[in-house]
Parts: sequence; C-alpha cells; structure tokens
Amino acid sequence: MTMIKKKRHAFPLFIFLILSTFLISSFAAGTTPTDKKKKEALASIDKHKTEIIALSDQIWQLAETALQETQSSKLLADYAEAQGFKVERGVAGLPTAFIATFGQGSPIIGVLGEYDALPGLSQRAQPVKEALQPGAAGHGCGHNLLGAAALSSALAIKELMEAGKLKGTIRFYGTPAEEATGGKVYMVRAGLFNDLDACLTWHPGQKTAVSVDGSQAIVEFIIEFFGRAAHAAGDPWNGRSAVAAMELYTTGLNRMREFVKPTVRMHYSILNGGDVPNVVPAYARLWCWLRDSKGTGVEQLLERARHLAEGAAMMTEVDYRLTVHGGNWETLVNLSGEKLIFNNLIRLGPIKFTQEEQEFAKEIQKSSGVEPKGLDGTVQPWTVPKPDPEGGSTDVGDVSWQVPTISFNATTAPLDTPWHAWPVVACGGMSIGHKGMIYAARVMAATMVDLYENPRNIQAMKEEFEQKRKGVIYKPFIPDGPPIIIKK
Ligand SMILES: [Zn+2]
Repeated sequence: MTMIKKKRHAFPLFIFLILSTFLISSFAAGTTPTDKKKKEALASIDKHKTEIIALSDQIWQLAETALQETQSSKLLADYAEAQGFKVERGVAGLPTAFIATFGQGSPIIGVLGEYDALPGLSQRAQPVKEALQPGAAGHGCGHNLLGAAALSSALAIKELMEAGKLKGTIRFYGTPAEEATGGKVYMVRAGLFNDLDACLTWHPGQKTAVSVDGSQAIVEFIIEFFGRAAHAAGDPWNGRSAVAAMELYTTGLNRMREFVKPTVRMHYSILNGGDVPNVVPAYARLWCWLRDSKGTGVEQLLERARHLAEGAAMMTEVDYRLTVHGGNWETLVNLSGEKLIFNNLIRLGPIKFTQEEQEFAKEIQKSSGVEPKGLDGTVQPWTVPKPDPEGGSTDVGDVSWQVPTISFNATTAPLDTPWHAWPVVACGGMSIGHKGMIYAARVMAATMVDLYENPRNIQAMKEEFEQKRKGVIYKPFIPDGPPIIIKK
C-alpha cells in the first residue's frame, strides 16, 4: 500500500497542549511500575538495535517482491527462532508467511510485520536517483523497516515475559505480499488471528502520527474478452475483436467516473491488447482495481463493472470472463487503542534527525521538484477521524475486522516526495529509515506494555471493536484456493 497522505483536521490546540503536559514525563523517570517496564522494553530494543538494523538492511538489499520473499522471511524467522520464539513457517499455505510465538495464556497480542518489495524500484541509498541494480525491485514502501521493527518490539516483550515481568503470549506475524495479493487476507481466512486480544502494526511514512483515518476497501479483478481471429484486411468480417470489447469496457468505466461517489478510485492496466495489427485480436485482458471508503461501496462498483463488461461483450459479439482475485476491507479504526499509541508517541517525543540526514532529505526533495523542507520527525497532533479515508488500501484492513487492530506512521522519508518511489528506497537503506524503524519498535513495545499491564485497555479496545462491528458479516474478497499473482 499505502502510505496515506492525510489532510488533518487539527485537534483544538489547547487540548493537545494540556494532554502533552500531562504526558510529557518520559518513561526514563520510571515513576510507575508500567513506566519501569516500558523503560526495560526500550532497553531491550537498544540492546538488539544493531541486529535489527542489519536485518532490515539485508531485506532492503534482497528486495524480494510479493510471495517471492523466501530469503527475507527466512531471515526474520531464523532470527526469531534464535531468540527463543517458537516459529511456525509456511502458515495459511503461504510459503513465505510465518508465526513466531512466545509465552502462554492470555492476553494474546499480535504484531504484524511485512517484508515485500516493489518491482522496478531498485535504488541506491543515496540522495540521487540511481538504481542499485537496473530493473530490479526496491523497498519503495519501506517494508524492510516495517517487518524488522515489528519483530524488534515483539522481542522486547518476549524478554520482559522471560524475566517474569509480563504475563501472556506475544505473537509476531510474518505477513507476505502486502503489495500484491495481501497475504494477511489468506491468514485471516485460515483463522490465524481468531484468538488474539489485540493486534498492532505500523507503517513507514513522511510524518509521525496515529492512524485514525483508516484505509480504503478495494477489489481487484481480471476481465478477459474472447473474440475470433481473422485477417485484419483480407477477411475482417470473419473476425470479432476482443480489443474492441476491452476498449468499450474502459470507455464505459471512464464515463462512469462522473457518476460515482467522490470517495471512489478506479484504475486499470492493459495486460493483453492484441499482438500484431494484421490479425483481428482474439484475446484481451485487463487488470482492474476499484476502491471506495467501504467494502459495501466496492461491492456495488463491482456489480456495475460486471454490467459494463457484459455490455461491451454484447456490442462486439465476443465472450467475456470476470475473475475476482483479491481485495481488502477498509480498516476498522480503534480509537481506544490509538489513544494508547498517541500517549506513547507524545512521551517518546519527536524523532531527531541530524543535520546530515536533513541535508540528505533536502537533496532528494530538490531533485523531486518539491520544496526542500527536509524531514519532519515531530509527533503530529491528534486529529478528528475522517469518515472517508483517502488514497490507499492495505490487508491490515482485513485483520482489523477479526481483532482490535491499531497502527501509526513513523517518519522514514522526506516530506512531499513521491511514495512507492525511489526516495523511500533511498532513505530505507540508511540512517533515516533506521531511526524511524527503531522509533516505531519503541512505540509498539511501550503500547504493548500498556496492554499487558492493564486489562482495562484491552477491554476498552474490545468494546469499541464489538460496537463498530455489530451487524457486519466479514467476507474476504479472495477466491477459493491459493493466491494468484497477476503477471503480464
Ligand atoms: Zn506499505
């Protein structure tokens, strides 16, 4: 996904200031038993910092794409095993998915980690655009940082449990293919989140903030048109063009844009559009993504897309097939949990970047044609959640309908530069990304201490979750069987 750029409605400043003064005493002061445990969790993260950075750098170098993350997932799983977690590999029928568990009994808290890269984004860890390996993949969404930070936070909790300071179970979920088919949806279908009490994750970003706006729902499908080949000049009357049908379909979809809600996003790629001009094309294939702020909206769009395909096929006298191969639900935001994260963000304070790191970021901004404002590591104020999330989807959404799930962003890239692009790769392989990653691990570990220490926190999350989920029957968009990775 899915870094979601947010225009925030500012929370009244005075409330923010009052909150901040309340919470500003750092854990280092160690005034309460919970604070002491948080301090110990942070110490554990510091102790393993070099190893975690090395892991994220190795995953950054490997840059393995969706469901190909064999070595990346092995690196994380091996590390978890070496640290004393019980590791189960290849869960939910996904060879690159795994679960690392420690402890016993309740509460059971899960942490989600991702590690897939994006094709074609290879980039050196430098402020000038240059591929590390031309044509190769790159971590344009910072998932090398995402997985390593999540595991680091789980390890900190494990060490507190081992020392008899926290009770319960900690579970790290190695979740592949976030960028493609959504490994978490398959893990949801396999029931792997059913016994969790709460679930946490984070995402690299250009700002450091709680995630109270959620993400969009999406459905992905393939439309194929089947026509009849003939000589395009010799006997065109014997042919029926699959490409003509596809053109009518996309025309229909584009005409439909005016008559959908402003929250809708529709995009497509043409995968097959005929081979040579002198053959009437017998086959055409289109990859289509439809998004809206809610899964119900997406279902309606899908119905309309079916009608368009049917109409296009009818007009051109060809056959068609529409195959849904995936999708995500919107994220069910849990404000009770987000508040815990927010408190920890405030108490940990901003991510402090060096002058050198700011210069690195400004270089990138200049070459991206945006204002050289550098990096923003400050904690963004609490904002009023928007009713309609914008600009992206994630398979975390599907998890959020199974268990109260919370997330936040930590700064790992310069402001206003393109996401899913080389600036994110460049920063994710050097100290800017490392800093955001370690910070994220600290926030997650501190928040988990709040959950293990105080059952009322989990209770509040569960109550909100049950109330928001009431009457909704979750049904994943994925078809039966294993995931399909769409290729040209
Ligand atoms: Zn992402």
